[in-house]
Amino acid sequence: MHEKLIPIRQIVTARNPGESEFHQAVDEVFESLGPVVARHPDLLDSAIVERICEPERQIIFRVPWMDDQGQVHINRGFRVEFNSALGPYKGGLRFHPSVYLGIVKFLGFEQIFKNALTGMPIGGGKGGSDFDPSGRSDAEIMRFCQSFMTELYRHIGEYTDVPAGDIGVGGREIGYLFGQYKRITNRYESGVLTGKGLSWGGSLVRTEATGYGAVMFAEEMLKTRGLDLEGRDVIVSGSGNVAIYAIERAQSLGAKALTASDSSGYVVDSNGIDLELLKQVKEVERARISEYAERRGSSARFVSDGSVWDVPGTVALPCATQNELNGRQAKTLLENGILAVAEGANMPCTTEAVRRFQESDVLFAPGKAANAGGVATSALEMQQNASRDSWSFDYTQQRLREIMRGIHDRCAETAEEFGMPGNYVAGANIAGFLKVARAMVAQGI
Ligand code: GLU
Repeated sequence: MHEKLIPIRQIVTARNPGESEFHQAVDEVFESLGPVVARHPDLLDSAIVERICEPERQIIFRVPWMDDQGQVHINRGFRVEFNSALGPYKGGLRFHPSVYLGIVKFLGFEQIFKNALTGMPIGGGKGGSDFDPSGRSDAEIMRFCQSFMTELYRHIGEYTDVPAGDIGVGGREIGYLFGQYKRITNRYESGVLTGKGLSWGGSLVRTEATGYGAVMFAEEMLKTRGLDLEGRDVIVSGSGNVAIYAIERAQSLGAKALTASDSSGYVVDSNGIDLELLKQVKEVERARISEYAERRGSSARFVSDGSVWDVPGTVALPCATQNELNGRQAKTLLENGILAVAEGANMPCTTEAVRRFQESDVLFAPGKAANAGGVATSALEMQQNASRDSWSFDYTQQRLREIMRGIHDRCAETAEEFGMPGNYVAGANIAGFLKVARAMVAQGI
């Protein structure tokens, strides 16, 4: 790390004690910024690095709700409005028992640079709750979402802060949240949330966008070496929205996606994942992944120990959650001949895993570049809402394609310009940082 950044890093630790995921995300960016500090010392004069690490606003609130038996539960809600230099705060809501301020800050911090890379006018933010939706009835989910929005509504708005989904928050939850916002404010403010249903302001391709975008990024990286996805064995983790549509696009390009996982284990399917069955099990029935193997027949088996990273393949798409792929697992992937890794989730590879991939010349795409297709399509949804229009699937997908190609090229060119050709981590961090930093300097202190 550049010596001028070390004292700032110490300030971040002191201000945010115990928030290890946030520290990890900050370190990952700081490790890339050395050449920027050397080339643009003026940016340090306005304390830009320290300012970028301190959220503009952090909101923590109580979320009381009643279960189906009439018992009252209390959860904690968060919204971290991190940076608004480029536009209204934008980023998802995560409902998962692991959520605490450190997770929300790490995600919000990533979101600043990710959103900058898309080229769309959106700032960075993130929110969520430690609420555990698993096993909860539809009515319980609705009451929780309504209570969550009863506090959140006063902090958000089409020009202020625009939440969307993340882990545990999909179309159903966005519907309940939007309904409550509308009820409280008496405003049909379509642009206040993204990921909406298609008949009430949502955008085509938004559901598919993160997974499709991650594969598009992988395609662009492979192309730089004259390669493509045709005939490749692809290893995918997760079985949510990101994983499902990453599998769909990889298979449409002639690859074979061999795996999918959830918190109980993973399935490996030698014939390639049957997407209809996976969607039925995970999206419709919200059942365990083992159910997939039970119904699929002899080509598939369920494994409850180890991880998908034990399965050989040449492209890996970690699409589950943070720190799900460690150094040891990276080593296994390398021994099995991995060529490219694109992060569909946010920070799924540990620092050690990324280091191993980069040392071995694997094409490695960090989440803030590779998974930006979701939030970019959210920005396209905002555009459609603002103009009271809705675009066709093909047109929207075409826009997504151009955006992902643009992000790839921006990362590659920036890495090259700063003397680290092929280093997409450095390229993404530097390009994202410079765009935000310049806007902040222009807007004064
Ligand atoms: N949660 C997604 C992400 O990590 C999407 C956020 C959005 O659409 O605002 O980027």
